[in-house]
Amino acid sequence: MCDRVLADLGDSVDAVMLDLHGAMVAEGADDAEGALLEAIRARRPGIPIAVALDFHATISRQTVENADVITGYRSFPHTDMHETGQRAATTLPAWLNDGPRPVMVFEWLPMLPATALCTPAGGAMKPVMDRTIAAEAGGEVLNALVFGSFPLSDVPQAGACVITVARDAGAAADVAQERAAMLWDAREGFVLPPQDFGAVIRQAVGLNGHPVIIGDPGNNAGSGGSADTPAVLEALLAAGVDGTLAGPVYDPESVQAMITAGTGAEVEIALGGKVDLSAAGIPSRPLRLKGRVGAITDGRSPSPGRC
Ligand SMILES: [Zn+2]
Repeated sequence: MCDRVLADLGDSVDAVMLDLHGAMVAEGADDAEGALLEAIRARRPGIPIAVALDFHATISRQTVENADVITGYRSFPHTDMHETGQRAATTLPAWLNDGPRPVMVFEWLPMLPATALCTPAGGAMKPVMDRTIAAEAGGEVLNALVFGSFPLSDVPQAGACVITVARDAGAAADVAQERAAMLWDAREGFVLPPQDFGAVIRQAVGLNGHPVIIGDPGNNAGSGGSADTPAVLEALLAAGVDGTLAGPVYDPESVQAMITAGTGAEVEIALGGKVDLSAAGIPSRPLRLKGRVGAITDGRSPSPGRC
């Protein structure tokens, strides 16, 4: 992937603007995007580089030291991809034409905010985010943002941070340090105590008149989980809750069994519990289910382009 980007970095390229996530971990690279940026800088030293990232980016020194402008999403659910890209891109010509090169300051904090409580648009983060963004109003600070990080990626750089970009080093440092201190003071607001399954289900059943969504971020493939643990579904069934839509579950074996049986067929499957989680001290146990194959599709669905 790096090679394809580097191949396009000819002498005619004046600046680089990248739309990345910022929390990619690859085999051999704890910070895959940082490695990409370092390779770009090595290929074209001195070329201006602007990067648009997700709010949940885990930002390392490798990333900061190989970019000139970093900004990220300010909404959740993330709906401001366009605005974020625009912000990153417009900062480039603002100083390419006028100079001097801006200064970027990075204040990293040793805190891992619980994902479910870490949104730029609410809770303990919102006052810090609002105050950080407000620093841009005077014009001296070109970009200022808090990143919530992605604590479930087991890498050294995971941790919330503040990044500021300004023409003046003092202004960039003042804002970054003050907002980082504010975020640190709010750290208790990002702690999510574990809750008992049974209590959560009883609470959900008591919410009459509304669809209830129970999220299981720890079993989410997008959060580093196996998406293979049927524990929540098992607890719902044991509690006698019906009208439940559950999933997704990663289980190619069960999918193949249902495809073989065909639409409308009655099947008995052992759902999930096939990925070995012994390293995490979690027993892998499938959930035996009987049911009917409702439909078979190719899994493709249209996306409006926002998430
Ligand atoms: Zn995100």
